[in-house]
Amino acid sequence: MKKICFMGECMVELRPVEPQKLNQSFAGDVYNSAVYLTRCFDDVSASMLTAVGSDRLSNEMMAQFKQDGLNTSYVFQHETRSTGLYLIETDDTGERSFTYWRSESAAKQIMSFITKAQTEALSDLDQFVFSGISIAIIEAGDRDAFWQFLTTLKSKGVQIVFDPNYRARLWKNESEAVINFDRAFALCDVTLAGVEDLTSLYGVHTSEEVLQLCQKHDISEIIVKDGSSSVISFFDNERAEHAITPVTKVVDTTSAGDAFNGVYLGARLSGSTICEAISLAAKAAGIVIQHPGAIIPKGLVEKAIAS
Ligand code: ADP
Repeated sequence: MKKICFMGECMVELRPVEPQKLNQSFAGDVYNSAVYLTRCFDDVSASMLTAVGSDRLSNEMMAQFKQDGLNTSYVFQHETRSTGLYLIETDDTGERSFTYWRSESAAKQIMSFITKAQTEALSDLDQFVFSGISIAIIEAGDRDAFWQFLTTLKSKGVQIVFDPNYRARLWKNESEAVINFDRAFALCDVTLAGVEDLTSLYGVHTSEEVLQLCQKHDISEIIVKDGSSSVISFFDNERAEHAITPVTKVVDTTSAGDAFNGVYLGARLSGSTICEAISLAAKAAGIVIQHPGAIIPKGLVEKAIAS
């Protein structure tokens, strides 16, 4: 069975449903991808690499990971810190805003749990996935250890996958983000890049410009996503364009890219070609954006990709 591990932060999500009532769920970019992958590919084993606390919500999060079918061997429990949390609010015009409580989250200290033995155990993975958010939340003083850890995994033959998700508020400034994104691009074997994330950091505005940016690095598999516009791929020295069927009734674009990534990676690990994997990933993302929330009810994505 192929093995993939997603490193990053899962948070408690609070969403007002009526006055004084909040709906609570769990979400986070790489976690969302892991869930969609697991739902769609039972021949791939997916694990999360993260830290949670030892409190009630952290235990519920851990239980949710297990219920999702994720391997929790690399989910560590911090003794004093807890999970991050965010509140989504929607104003009268439908514009969403987010308030975060994550600066002291357990996940920020993930590197303190990764011992030599853990690195050794993770070296038999087929793929290791992280995002721009995964790097941003690691304490700045721990980032050298993170790059060393990634270099070790890569030297053991683990394919490194990077999604350059960019959240400005998690970085000191743009140049700190660029330095770290450049390191990630230099190390990864596969990148699943969204145009919007890289516009302000690198001044790129089109899929073609993002492709050229990625091609400056030795990345063997490049996928560029741009909302309802075509996806561009570059693999085995071959560039291809994959048409997307635009969704007309978009309800919530949260986690479109995450669902795309999870299904794309699961399909590739299950033996699909780039073309087949993008087609399945686009079907999955197209369904996710027609429903509210990061994780939509079970069954919908599975049905969409089977059609
Ligand atoms: P991100 O969430 O990373 O910003 P994008 O917005 O580029 O990602 O979208 C990721 C994928 O979701 C796209 O490549 C596409 O497959 C799908 N998608 C996004 N918006 C639409 C849309 N309006 N219609 C159809 N598919 C979409």
